[in-house]
Amino acid sequence: MQKKGVLFVLSGPSGVGKGTLKNRLLAEFEGQVVDSISATTRGPREGEVHGREYFFISRQDFLERIANNDFLEHAEFSGNMYGTPKSYVLSVLEKGVNVITEIEVQGALQVFERMPDCVSVFILPPSYEELESRLRGRATESEEKILARLETAKRELPIAEKYQHRIVNNDLDAAYEELRTIYLHATKSQQM
Ligand code: 5GP
Repeated sequence: MQKKGVLFVLSGPSGVGKGTLKNRLLAEFEGQVVDSISATTRGPREGEVHGREYFFISRQDFLERIANNDFLEHAEFSGNMYGTPKSYVLSVLEKGVNVITEIEVQGALQVFERMPDCVSVFILPPSYEELESRLRGRATESEEKILARLETAKRELPIAEKYQHRIVNNDLDAAYEELRTIYLHATKSQQM
């Protein structure tokens, strides 16, 4: 029987660099691990493509998908809804391919309940001040949105305790090395 893939749940506040870490892992282990592309009601940012970063859908469509039980988890974040497509993730895992899903904490807690074998990693900023400056540096959001995301980050940080692994992203290469080690350990039986 084929071994199932491993589901990795990656969370951390906006601006902490989790997207970069995820993309590095996807590039290094291409073919072994795939990204779970979420659905969201937020509008695309510049450069984002439907079906690549997200499936950008209306709130009505999103609510219909909830009613159809199409999401492994879903949550509201900063006024928008986000959800992980269930059938895609389950079918990929069934084929023995690993999946990484980058989601906020409310959704992650749902995944911990439903998929207790998942491997969870929370990325922490070196400090709250550093997070604020990174978010401002990104400059894709209005001041109001930045402040809202910082408030959310304050609430999210204590939930990091519920994750199996925590990585402080002080230095990107060092943080990636930690993530890579976690990945290799969790998928050890596939590496032989
Ligand atoms: P952003 O709008 O910056 O792309 O994402 C905002 C937050 O939503 C991030 O913390 C991101 O990880 C999270 N997120 C993205 N997709 C999903 C999803 O499918 N479910 C949940 N619960 N959160 C998600």
